[in-house]
Amino acid sequence: MLNIRIEKTQNPKPIPGPENPLVFGTIFTDHMFVMDYEEGKGWFDPRVIPYQPLSLEPSCMVFHYGQEMFEGLKAYKAVDGRILLFRPDKNADRANKTNERICIPTIPKEDFIQAVKTVVKVDKAWIPEKEGTSLYIRPFIIATDPFLGVRPSHTYKFIIILSPVGAYYPEGLNPVKIWIEDEYVRAVRGGVGEAKTGANYVASMKAQDKAHESGYSQVLWLDGVERKYIEEVGAMNIFFKINGTVITPKLNGSILPGVTRDSVISLCKLWDVPVEEKRISIDEIFEAYNNGTLEEVFGTGTAAVISPVGELKWEDHIMPVRDGGIGEFSQRFYDTVTGIQLGKVEDKLGWTVEVE
Ligand SMILES: *Cc1c(COP(=O)(O)O)cnc(C)c1O
Repeated sequence: MLNIRIEKTQNPKPIPGPENPLVFGTIFTDHMFVMDYEEGKGWFDPRVIPYQPLSLEPSCMVFHYGQEMFEGLKAYKAVDGRILLFRPDKNADRANKTNERICIPTIPKEDFIQAVKTVVKVDKAWIPEKEGTSLYIRPFIIATDPFLGVRPSHTYKFIIILSPVGAYYPEGLNPVKIWIEDEYVRAVRGGVGEAKTGANYVASMKAQDKAHESGYSQVLWLDGVERKYIEEVGAMNIFFKINGTVITPKLNGSILPGVTRDSVISLCKLWDVPVEEKRISIDEIFEAYNNGTLEEVFGTGTAAVISPVGELKWEDHIMPVRDGGIGEFSQRFYDTVTGIQLGKVEDKLGWTVEVE
């Protein structure tokens, strides 16, 4: 149990009203959680303080070598007024997997969840209530040693900020157009692809730009070695429904293990929908497209929950999916998960955690 000190702001900001579109990641609440780490001392001084700029030395290691991790989850105002988190234990576990991979000290799972709950509770008035909105929670850790040598830092800050959000993609549940990248790669097995760290994002920006210039909103990555096997989308895992079976690339060390991905697989099992995690090549997708068995394609991630894919572009091939419409499975998954998150659908798998 952390002994969290709470210092409330003297200057609360106006809370955005229901007319505000809540463009993803642009508005931040009144408070943030902060906890420090020093080697030999461990994590100390957990506190909720007014949201404010950080003061860091320009020599801080995070600025030079990118030793940082982040997580992403959401809090929802349920229809009965409860505040619910969705599977925060999975984020706490993944946070520590990331920490281990990039030499950041771990945080006990209970402490991580307690920190999230505490700051969400302080800013609970900021949880928007309109359909499709939620409070996005961004925990992250940065290396703070003022040092230019290369080694893991001896000091860190763990911070949680909160942002009321609407739909992640301006298009909402509308299908997105996806660019399959065959030049740049995002990650390789043995690298940091399965860790949630900024390095994976900086590696992806060039291809993202290229895709945008051609009118595509997201990049689908192929494996870094053969550029043949499907990996994932920028900030989402990818699923294909082929001939009745829901298929997603098997976790191989370079794919981020998404909580939403795991939720799709669990619901398939609950619903007796055939589901497979396997290595799948772009040629197999192209073949399924050509023989008419590519029924649905969708991305999954906390920010968007599910993002139907309406078109794939690979080399010179343009593959429209479902004439750009939303598939039945995608819709069913979206309705069920958002229903569970809002307390409207029975939570058979025990995924929600109340903030009291
Ligand atoms: C966070 C993330 C995802 C999605 O994970 P969720 O836990 O479902 O939000 C997928 N890919 C990458 C690269 C990510 O960073």
